[in-house]
Amino acid sequence: MHDTRPLLDKIPFPAIRRGKLETLQVNVGYRCNQSCFHCHVNAGPNRIEEMNGDIVDVVLSFLRRRKIATLDITGGAPELNPHFRRLVREARKLGARVMDRCNLTILEQKGQEDLAEFLASERVEVVASMPCYLEDNVERQRGKGVFAGSIRGLKRLNALGYGRDPALPLNLVYNPQGPALPPAQASLEDDYRRVLGEEHGIAFNKLFVLANMPIHRFGSALLSKGEFNDYIELLRDAHLDANLDGVMCRHLLSVDWRGYVYDCDFNQMLGLPMNFGTRARAHLADLLDDVVDGNPIRVSGHCYGCTAGQGSSCGGALHEAAE
Ligand code: SF4
Ligand code: SF4
Repeated sequence: MHDTRPLLDKIPFPAIRRGKLETLQVNVGYRCNQSCFHCHVNAGPNRIEEMNGDIVDVVLSFLRRRKIATLDITGGAPELNPHFRRLVREARKLGARVMDRCNLTILEQKGQEDLAEFLASERVEVVASMPCYLEDNVERQRGKGVFAGSIRGLKRLNALGYGRDPALPLNLVYNPQGPALPPAQASLEDDYRRVLGEEHGIAFNKLFVLANMPIHRFGSALLSKGEFNDYIELLRDAHLDANLDGVMCRHLLSVDWRGYVYDCDFNQMLGLPMNFGTRARAHLADLLDDVVDGNPIRVSGHCYGCTAGQGSSCGGALHEAAE
């Protein structure tokens, strides 16, 4: 796989600083039952990196000490981590809002048969990847059988109240198939609601539209096809300074499976740890009493993926694009 980081490092990006910390986004491991083409984590069934119980305890201590409002759990398929359910239960007991970035097909994996019920019982918000409402497009990006499995997963979540009961939000995530800016979020959400609703009887709350990051598998494919520079130019040309205030790194701290912290999940995947004071690489255990608000954010060329057009964050577009 080609590494895009040396190229991204040479691209200047405006300086930004952290705001008030609101969300701890924890990557509990890179193992996944899928191996999607666009995956910025390079996750798959053979990855062995996994957060252990001691680091889970540090995460819980941090949530408790710093009174963090939201725990956003990601992976890989985060549910495959053996400590996932304890982390969810304890975080909920602390009163945190908990989000699970779920790939939907995990709900049918051996050993996960009761996962949907568990998530509903703990009132976990589900953020589910669904890169298209058309079978061909989903399978090209995520693998054979993934569309049908995802539809079954959505139906199962709906049957438990997800997407219908206000206490059980179900949000979907779209990303483009190739090196293009995502379409306007509101109109695409309408299309999703119409097709998934009319053809499959599926209800959901919101569609989050994300741009593809020029890193890992997607970035490597861009380099192989000679499309890397054009994609970067596309993102840079569409950059809006107004999006700088809303980028997710301003209010989110990303934690890797070993407990090291980053300004966002993309920086984590690029191996760009958050610089803090004299530390070139900070660990969550070192930050239990430190305030990271105001700290400079480590930026590089990939950050244009967050500020192009309508903007892109873990909660979708930053504002509605002009038609
Ligand atoms: S389901 Fe998500 S984590 Fe797993 S390979 Fe696909 S994009 Fe990566
Ligand atoms: S990639 Fe996006 S979220 Fe991450 S540091 Fe850059 S602007 Fe912030």
